[in-house]
Amino acid sequence: MAMMQKTEILIIGAGVIGICAAYYLTEKGYKVTVVDKGEVCSGCSYGNVGVAVPSICGTLASPGIISKSLKWLLDPESPFYIKPRFNRDLIGWLWEFQRACNEPQMRRGLSILHEFNTASVELFKDLAAQEKMDFGFVQKGLLVVFKSLPGFKEGVQEAELRQKIGIEAEIIRGSELRSFAPHLRSGLAGGIYYRRDAHLDPYKFVRRLAEKTRKKGAQILTSTEVIGFEIFGKAIKTVETTRGDFTADEVVLAAGAWSSEMSRYLGLKLPIQAAKGYSITYRLPENYLEMPVSLSETKVFITPLADTLRLGGTLELAGMDLSINKRRVNAILKTVPEYIDINIENLKLIEIWRGLRPCTPDGLPFLGRCRAINNFIVAAGHAMEGISLGPVTGQLVAQVIGNEKPSVDLSLMSIERFN
Ligand SMILES: Cc1cc2nc3c(=O)[nH]c(=O)nc-3n(C[C@H](O)[C@H](O)[C@H](O)COP(=O)(O)OP(=O)(O)OC[C@H]3O[C@@H](n4cnc5c(N)ncnc54)[C@H](O)[C@@H]3O)c2cc1C
Repeated sequence: MAMMQKTEILIIGAGVIGICAAYYLTEKGYKVTVVDKGEVCSGCSYGNVGVAVPSICGTLASPGIISKSLKWLLDPESPFYIKPRFNRDLIGWLWEFQRACNEPQMRRGLSILHEFNTASVELFKDLAAQEKMDFGFVQKGLLVVFKSLPGFKEGVQEAELRQKIGIEAEIIRGSELRSFAPHLRSGLAGGIYYRRDAHLDPYKFVRRLAEKTRKKGAQILTSTEVIGFEIFGKAIKTVETTRGDFTADEVVLAAGAWSSEMSRYLGLKLPIQAAKGYSITYRLPENYLEMPVSLSETKVFITPLADTLRLGGTLELAGMDLSINKRRVNAILKTVPEYIDINIENLKLIEIWRGLRPCTPDGLPFLGRCRAINNFIVAAGHAMEGISLGPVTGQLVAQVIGNEKPSVDLSLMSIERFN
């Protein structure tokens, strides 16, 4: 047997969540080791559309979603799809999901995620300033545009709900849209401009933060896959990996969509379903807009990232399957010219990508210490907002491990809430 490797804190997963946790823990003086089966930022954190969303945050579970998704399920090009299959975890997840689709829970989720995301945006600014890190962070707001009048009306209602909790939202009539953003097609029903939202290059952010964290003393091991655990009493004694065994005082699970599989090794149940999404990245056309745009009816986002333009969308519950469904990629591409005056065929393609969003049934992440296993902390399930919530999650993990009072209330994030 190889020698046991020792560390104070072992983090599983080098995506945005694992790296942010490693950064804040290292800052507090802990000896941290991060392991990832792939490279740093090779999972869902790699090719997403990079929007930080204090204003347009929220949970997928909402009162109208079930009837909408039933209609979408029959359309292979729709923004939402569930691969029909008999799978106990999926059925259990869908059951909890529909239970969470009610007005009070949606509102509560919105205000918690708003608080989390607002804190995170401030931390992005601090990181850029304190660490002199350039990751393309720009706070130029986000524009949500609507093609149809009913869509716009719904959007306005939603904006008004958000305004009630202090979110700034500017409602723009269809006739005024093009003077606001000249790249939009004429004839759109309207738009809503959320001034406080921001965007950043997710890959640059995670890679550069990982580099800083390493320089501050953390160890980051790639191609190191966790394959099991050894439990003694109420604690993890050993973490077994493809590159040898580790002992640690505390183990943090930040394995995104793989977290559910990982927790099964520990005999725990973490209901996280993978929701596949795609992005297509092109070279940025000249004089393109400086802010991200969300095409509301089709749930597609378009973000300018340095000299590239990234289009992203779809949410497919199809298990851990990473195959690329070209029909869905094309469906994203097809909708863009309906909103934006752009000829995609003339753009230079850089990359087609897919990633697995880690989704909990109620849309809030799992964040906190496990009751059954004392030295096990989970930070996973950030769904559509993992980049945005990365810094605040990292800081909270450091507070939980340091036994400090968390800066935001974590009771609704409990990892046992579905047991
Ligand atoms: C199309 C698309 C667009 C998106 N747009 C946005 C956006 O605009 N804003 C936003 O905030 N979020 C967005 N997201 C969501 C965001 O990308 C995710 O929430 C976030 O990346 C999750 O980060 P993570 O660190 O939890 O997971 P990941 O980045 O997936 O990291 C998990 C890591 O765990 C590792 N791992 C897994 N199993 C093991 C094992 N056994 N041993 C060791 N390591 C293991 C994996 O290799 C991986 O690197 C988008 C997602 C998609 C798909």
